[in-house]
Amino acid sequence: MRLPAPISLASSFGFGDRLGLATPGHIAAVKGTGLTPIFAQQSVRENARTGRTPQQVMDDAKRAVEAAKWDEPWGADADHLKTVDNLPAFVEAGYTFFTVDPGAYVDNAADTDPLSVLQEKVASPESPYGKGRDWNELSAVYLKQNSDKAFGAFDSVTLHRAAVKYGRAIQHVAGMYHRLSQLKETFDFEISVDETDTPTTPLEHYFISNELTRSGVRFTSLAPRFIGRFEKGVDYIGDLAALDAEMARHAAVTAHFGTYKLSLHSGSDKFSVYPLMVKHWGGRLHIKTAGTSYLEALRTLAATEPALFERIWALGLERYPTDRATYHVSAEVGKVPSGLALPALLDDFYAREILHVTFGSALMQFGTEIKSALVKHMDDYNANLQKHFRKHLDLLK
Ligand code: ZN
Repeated sequence: MRLPAPISLASSFGFGDRLGLATPGHIAAVKGTGLTPIFAQQSVRENARTGRTPQQVMDDAKRAVEAAKWDEPWGADADHLKTVDNLPAFVEAGYTFFTVDPGAYVDNAADTDPLSVLQEKVASPESPYGKGRDWNELSAVYLKQNSDKAFGAFDSVTLHRAAVKYGRAIQHVAGMYHRLSQLKETFDFEISVDETDTPTTPLEHYFISNELTRSGVRFTSLAPRFIGRFEKGVDYIGDLAALDAEMARHAAVTAHFGTYKLSLHSGSDKFSVYPLMVKHWGGRLHIKTAGTSYLEALRTLAATEPALFERIWALGLERYPTDRATYHVSAEVGKVPSGLALPALLDDFYAREILHVTFGSALMQFGTEIKSALVKHMDDYNANLQKHFRKHLDLLK
């Protein structure tokens, strides 16, 4: 059987699968597209909510790879790792792609702090640039640059802001990288700051990449937080023309380094964004999806086991106000149009977000029933997945 391996800069697509039953449909969708798939992809948060271990996620993917006789490269992504303690279980299970999320160390207030506050923060003992010598060195690196770069140039304010906003996060990523390097020889390494409250400017993206490179971190992808809203399971919300220009600037930063690709998280259903990614990021991109495969499972149940689906929907409405807390979603229960027939409900913006973020509650309560119903209707589930993902992948040709 073909084992997962690092895929480096080849264009790739992440198929998160919270139920352990979606890989056959993912294989059918990705076959012949030229994209390298990530079949096992689960974050620590998702594993906590689905009650699965990194090993189980890997075993489910491997079983499907073997059954389908998939013989092309594929990867396995240990997603949104937050601490070094998260690493060993994924290393032992054979993951090949490690995504580190230093979001807890990003100082979002830096975006609005006045210069005097930024200067205090830079000089504080927690700052990696706290010693005057370090700051002088940083200024020498970044302030001497000329301004002909497509993504702009630093002045004293923007350099202070970048250093405060991302300094400790960069330090944390470097620590995670060095620990991982002791555990594993070769791997794909991604930095994700996509779940922070404030967007990553192209200049800050440059700062992150340059500081990581200077500290010896070799990474293969980076997921900035882009402008606008990338909510779960629905299309982009925001100004597409502004995003178009911003993506061009981020592409200029990656072109400057040439050592990694850009990564888009919450990539499910971002149909209006994919053409922009192709335009600016060309043959070097990574996209992650996860919950949309769960929504296709629910679409399958809505058609084949409507009584079970109705119970999942009722629970979702009840749990949404609580379960939404750790996600970027804006749906409100009161806004779901009343009287939507079953398959149409799965296409409604509000219903999709509600169902999307309440998966943990649904699996806790109905997990066994959901899985056995899907096994029974596997052909329908595969067909729904294939159709839904083809809509995504066709845009990346
Ligand atoms: Zn993410």
